[in-house]
Amino acid sequence: MRVAVVGAGFAGLATSIKLSRAAKVTLFEEHEEVGVPEHCTGIVSGRVWEELGSYVSKSVKEGDLSEFFIGLPSGKGVTLKGPKDFAVRLDRKRLEEEMLETALSMGVEWRVKLITDVTPKGSVHGQSFDRVFLAEGWRAELSSRLGIAARPRRLYGLNVEVRGRAAHPGRVEVWFDKALAPGFFAWVVMLEEKAVVGTAAVRGYNVEKLLSSTLEVARRRGLVEGEAVKRYGGVIQTGPPVLAPCLRAVCSAGDAAGLNKPVTGGGLYPSLDVAKKLPGNLNRPIKAYKIVPRLYAETAVARLLHGAPQRFYERLFSELDGEEWRISEYDNHLRSVREIIGEMRVKKFALLFLKALRYLLP
Ligand SMILES: Cc1cc2nc3c(=O)[nH]c(=O)nc-3n(C[C@H](O)[C@H](O)[C@H](O)COP(=O)(O)OP(=O)(O)OC[C@H]3O[C@@H](n4cnc5c(N)ncnc54)[C@H](O)[C@@H]3O)c2cc1C
Repeated sequence: MRVAVVGAGFAGLATSIKLSRAAKVTLFEEHEEVGVPEHCTGIVSGRVWEELGSYVSKSVKEGDLSEFFIGLPSGKGVTLKGPKDFAVRLDRKRLEEEMLETALSMGVEWRVKLITDVTPKGSVHGQSFDRVFLAEGWRAELSSRLGIAARPRRLYGLNVEVRGRAAHPGRVEVWFDKALAPGFFAWVVMLEEKAVVGTAAVRGYNVEKLLSSTLEVARRRGLVEGEAVKRYGGVIQTGPPVLAPCLRAVCSAGDAAGLNKPVTGGGLYPSLDVAKKLPGNLNRPIKAYKIVPRLYAETAVARLLHGAPQRFYERLFSELDGEEWRISEYDNHLRSVREIIGEMRVKKFALLFLKALRYLLP
């Protein structure tokens, strides 16, 4: 079978690698380089890293993350603890560069070309393919033309890397605060030799300014120290995915299909999940998109969480301040919620939910 993959971002590279044994794959990318422009914070679960680790060198991993604080910038909130390699931070540019090398070594054909013409029958600029995967990122121009693009909620996210000592290497702080991250959350990722501070906001806000304020809070609390060396960012999608990603021989993939975890915008896990199911389902690729209903359900949770008023966050995290919960899964947010309810006991959770509900109601 001949397969064309359009776009050599994470989704296109993962799709090409996973299909390289089952098909003759041609990977089209408009740029000569992969991994640029940098945009991503690079956090994935230990499970995703285990899988990627067979395609790239160990040095792509920059550090283990085993503790996630979720709360207010003041430091009030809950701590979620997982095993040591619960989540990891990756060098995203290096990840994509090494994935490309692996794809080429597995026989994938690399073509630097901007694709503007794809038909539902699988023709790419007149060349015929049995299957075409459009992994063209959030702009999704080709997928939109074919009616197989997602139309998710979008925000703009920005990271700043700070070189120097971080207060708690291995810990991530996630802050819900409308003044720092309207409609999303701000984050501080602490590693041995550096930290990544970031925020995101819906359209209409000055994200550069929000990032400076977030960094100021992180410095004031002593979480990060040192010089800010670079800023990078891009579009974060928070669901829902497209329900019908395939039209005849063509399917959308990655951000183009809205394959993102709605609570965090993370795209690597859902794209990899679909890519690894493709080889057995090339005759009916839609069967590989089993994760879509779950992402849909998570979109509802994300809308509630991101859209809640500030007084909801204040009340919730004051009530929960100091709690510590163990969770086993970074990728499945619905399962994490179930585990947390189990730890809190259903009665306490129900009481807290009722207390908080009035802050969610208009
Ligand atoms: C600030 C920020 C933080 C993030 N943090 C995380 C995180 O911690 N963890 C996580 O899992 N995810 C994270 N994400 C999301 C993640 O980065 C994306 O989901 C992922 O990179 C999308 O990959 P993709 O391959 O679908 O698209 P892209 O990376 O956008 O790749 C698309 C590629 O297709 C090429 N292309 C497009 N059109 C054409 C065409 N017509 N012809 C040829 N080539 C074309 C482009 O040049 C590009 O190389 C973050 C995103 C942002 C913005």
